[in-house]
Amino acid sequence: MAMIRNHLSTIIISILTAAMGVIAAIAFGKMHHPEVLYPSASLTSKGMLSDYFDGITGTNGDTEVYLYDSGVAGGTALLCGGTHANEAASFLSTVVILENLRVTCGRVIIIPRLNNSAFTCSDPMEGFPSSYEIPTKNGTRVFRLGSRVTNPLDQWPDPLVFAQYPSNQQLSGFETRNINRAYPGRPDGTLTEKVAYAIIQIIKKENVNIAFDLHESSPEVPIVNVIVYNEKYEDIAMNAVLGLEMAGLQFSPETSPKNFHGLSHREWGDYTNAIPFLMETSNPSMGRLRGETNVDLVLRGDCDNYKKAKETGALRIAYREETGEPIEHRVGRHIMGFIELINSYNYYYPEMQIVVENLPDYDMIMENGVGEYLKN
Ligand SMILES: [Zn+2]
Repeated sequence: MAMIRNHLSTIIISILTAAMGVIAAIAFGKMHHPEVLYPSASLTSKGMLSDYFDGITGTNGDTEVYLYDSGVAGGTALLCGGTHANEAASFLSTVVILENLRVTCGRVIIIPRLNNSAFTCSDPMEGFPSSYEIPTKNGTRVFRLGSRVTNPLDQWPDPLVFAQYPSNQQLSGFETRNINRAYPGRPDGTLTEKVAYAIIQIIKKENVNIAFDLHESSPEVPIVNVIVYNEKYEDIAMNAVLGLEMAGLQFSPETSPKNFHGLSHREWGDYTNAIPFLMETSNPSMGRLRGETNVDLVLRGDCDNYKKAKETGALRIAYREETGEPIEHRVGRHIMGFIELINSYNYYYPEMQIVVENLPDYDMIMENGVGEYLKN
């Protein structure tokens, strides 16, 4: 009798395990389907990053490149979202710009999923939701919340110690899949290094003048709410910070550390002629102090733990006690930073103007929500 019962429980446990495996496999498989984007009518062509380096053709590192050419001679801007696919406002701000942008002078190139592979998995043991929904006028849009790093299915195993190329700077092995440690990359390296190499090629081949890398950080990290600039371009950064201050938004200018290698604001500036800027917003769902990790925390950015930490004054954190750090605030900041840095660039390079129009400003996004500026 006891043996029959044992057999029965073994069968039941096996069936349950198999069912959970199937459910997990379906959820994981869904992460390989990119969300549909709806570029504005100003889009002139769409290509792939592999058009600039065919070493990533057919890999999960290849990603879409959207070109907006006004047809009027001027400069070229490159906007990159999704360097870290777990940073919702990085991707979402890029999508809002992609779906609303009008360019009347020069060109804008947009890469919404810079590390495409990182959108196909989430970070294990972190409890992150794998997607979130944004309501729009015509229905709901679903967006994936990926990982900070390249999918291990695309690049494995990690070394114990990662030696950054070509600086030989030593970092933890995990960082070998972080594309914001991989620049300038190399054509015969890991997938992450190959994608980084392709980004350098697009900047060079398209003669990019100004380039943006959008990010989010946990509230306790000191670089939150900053504009990081390469020291060669301090004037442009400072002028933009002033412009943003006048619009009621406080950004701290931060110079790119000279000895911290592999980052966009360092290597794009050193290996190409582009003027690079990196912006960070405060995202409590990414922090170590966070409570329950769910879609609500990702989108509303409201967390009692951070409220308490802020109240105690024990931590110098970028967290707004009254309102939290909602997605509208984070997307609004990124878009305003993009606009003001281009304005500032135009002031210093009047012969290579880039004129962008039709983008919602901070107040509009705060009032109407992000979904108001997404198509369907
Ligand atoms: Zn980041």
